[in-house]
Amino acid sequence: MADVAFIGLGNMGGPMAKNLLAAGHAVVVFDLSETACEQMQSAGAAVATSAAEAAMGRDYVISMLPAGKHVAATYLGDDGLLSKLDSTTTILDCSTIDAATARQVGEAAAEMGIGFMDSPVSGGVAAAAAGTLAFMCGGDAATFEKAKLILKDMGKNIFHAGPAGAGQVAKGCNNMLLAIHMIGTCEALEMGARNGLDPKVLSDIMLASSGRNWSLEVYNPYPGVMPAAPASNDYKPGFMVDLMVKDLGLAMEIAQQSDVDNAMGQLARELYAQHQEAGNGQRDFSSILRSLQS
Ligand code: NAD
Repeated sequence: MADVAFIGLGNMGGPMAKNLLAAGHAVVVFDLSETACEQMQSAGAAVATSAAEAAMGRDYVISMLPAGKHVAATYLGDDGLLSKLDSTTTILDCSTIDAATARQVGEAAAEMGIGFMDSPVSGGVAAAAAGTLAFMCGGDAATFEKAKLILKDMGKNIFHAGPAGAGQVAKGCNNMLLAIHMIGTCEALEMGARNGLDPKVLSDIMLASSGRNWSLEVYNPYPGVMPAAPASNDYKPGFMVDLMVKDLGLAMEIAQQSDVDNAMGQLARELYAQHQEAGNGQRDFSSILRSLQS
């Protein structure tokens, strides 16, 4: 069992840290929110008064923070954790952030001989609680071997995408494609419905045909077709529009920096941003169907 520091105990980090405790690891936590720390203390974690106090001397430091600026501030600079750790600690940043910051932290860690992996996740709060997240890791092979030993207690599928930053690139690629096929699925179902087709029958037809995709398989956006999907529960998330817009913004940055022509991705981002501005930020991302119905 390992000594683990966990930084960032929000909707995702809280349940992930609890799974580490359940697996028998010694977990020291830090969050800017006292309430979040207290909840983890009740669950059996030790609480530190700073990120540095949590991190120093641990086998692993795991972070689950909102954005790149929080990750950079935590690890880089004169006061950052990299200046306080040594090669006995492995850092796994599970936050969804821009690939450039992930590369920057990864390179700074490598210069100091510290293993770092960007390890963003696929799967939301329910998967975090169930320990079934997918991790997309960017870093060197030796660090990946160490990462797997602990990520397996929070997730089901663990992929080595490539060097530092590659985990964030993989996540950006996946979520851009997800947005595109969700919107396409909504357009097809709405077109069928307006032409008198039953969305359930049309879904069955497309599932058995070449339009088959993940949205149709497990996340049908048309209310009533799939009882357990957010669409059948007034689009309660699930995966919020706000987070999809954030992830599409990161994907657009990756596309721009690598000079990729991603017209479909850009359009998906515009459509999701409009849907967010119309007041749907807290709804599930499959609610984009409603924008076609208004
Ligand atoms: P959240 O806002 O619920 O939690 C973030 C936590 O980080 C908060 O408790 C906050 O107090 C803490 N924090 C912020 N700055 C800090 C600092 N400097 N030091 C210590 N703690 C700090 O966010 P979340 O939903 O848990 O998401 C976390 C990350 O996971 C994000 O990057 C998000 O994009 C990603 N993600 C979220 C989901 C989801 O469904 N919520 C799914 C996949 C990925």
